[in-house]
Amino acid sequence: MHQRADFTSELPLIDHHCHGVVTRELERDSLEGLMSESYRPPPAGTSHFQKPLGLAIRRHCAPILGLEPLAPTEAYVERRRQLGTAEVNRRLLAATSVDLHLLDTGHRSAEITGVGEFAGISTHRVREVVRIEAVAEEVAASGVEASQFATRFAEALQRRGETAVGFKSIVAYRTTFRIEQSAPSAAEVVSAAGRWLGAIGSARPRIDCPVLIRHGLWTAAQICRERRLPIQLHVGFGDPDVYMHACDPTHFTDFVRAMESWEVPITLLHNYPFIREAAWMAEVFQNVYYDVGVIVNFTGPSGERMVREALEVGPFTKQVYSSDAFGLAELHYLGALLFRRHLCAVLDGWIRAGDCTARDAETIFSGIARDNALRIYPLG
Ligand SMILES: [Zn+2]
Repeated sequence: MHQRADFTSELPLIDHHCHGVVTRELERDSLEGLMSESYRPPPAGTSHFQKPLGLAIRRHCAPILGLEPLAPTEAYVERRRQLGTAEVNRRLLAATSVDLHLLDTGHRSAEITGVGEFAGISTHRVREVVRIEAVAEEVAASGVEASQFATRFAEALQRRGETAVGFKSIVAYRTTFRIEQSAPSAAEVVSAAGRWLGAIGSARPRIDCPVLIRHGLWTAAQICRERRLPIQLHVGFGDPDVYMHACDPTHFTDFVRAMESWEVPITLLHNYPFIREAAWMAEVFQNVYYDVGVIVNFTGPSGERMVREALEVGPFTKQVYSSDAFGLAELHYLGALLFRRHLCAVLDGWIRAGDCTARDAETIFSGIARDNALRIYPLG
């Protein structure tokens, strides 16, 4: 009889990609809105609780709020309202077995907690990851001339990067991965900036020009090369801005290969449904890392299959943990709980089948849980 190995103990995870939580009180509609990547509510008469994530919230989060597991949706929503958002956030984040969160602060940042506030609520350590495109949009909003854009952007990125532990790009969202991937020339950047800045008017700047996005990536890459920071790339699963078929990360091989020669780590985020492609890239490119963040929450009872697939071919030294939680403390709690549970279940099966020792399993677990992230991010 094989014993369940020690890796099931509470070794805290490092969540290498997540976002803050909302602190405002949530009516049912806004609660459900944060349970979906869609821009629209579910069809009339249906609910976002009627999917795998809904089951996972009712099963695992209800007890933290003092309800029975799988309490009805109405009871869950009502209990959440009674306790209030501050108490719900406090309880769920305190129960989240993570001791360090790397927060992407560049998405809907006015609606959610920043680094300091999130650290206060969770009582965990928190470091910032800076979203490249958000910095470009801030520079554009500050009213810069096209000829000055590249300089001002580089300065802003350098400044924001001083306390950050990495950069993040949403190139897949804004242009897909099927774009030219070399660094644009200075003249190309000036003329693209002129077209973009001229078209903004009074609207909030939104960068979607491939030349400027490429320029952002290469400017950040230069900082990463000097300071040995990773670049996170959004891959696959996300909101309706994504043209999923063109977000397969293997389309971005030229940039990834260039970063390999610069020794800049690339962490591929989420990856669903391209988990195998991401794991293969981690196998062949020295600088590529990957996670199955977000999809473990969204697949609920089927999540173990995602974790199993991520372990098929990728080196154990190249996978990292993330929740990609945004807005709801439930997503932080569930991300850690489900990932830990699924990874333990898979490794336990390997031990029982005689495919690895308990010691091997512990090393694999602690690598993915935290050691791999400690190797690529400056977290000391
Ligand atoms: Zn994210």
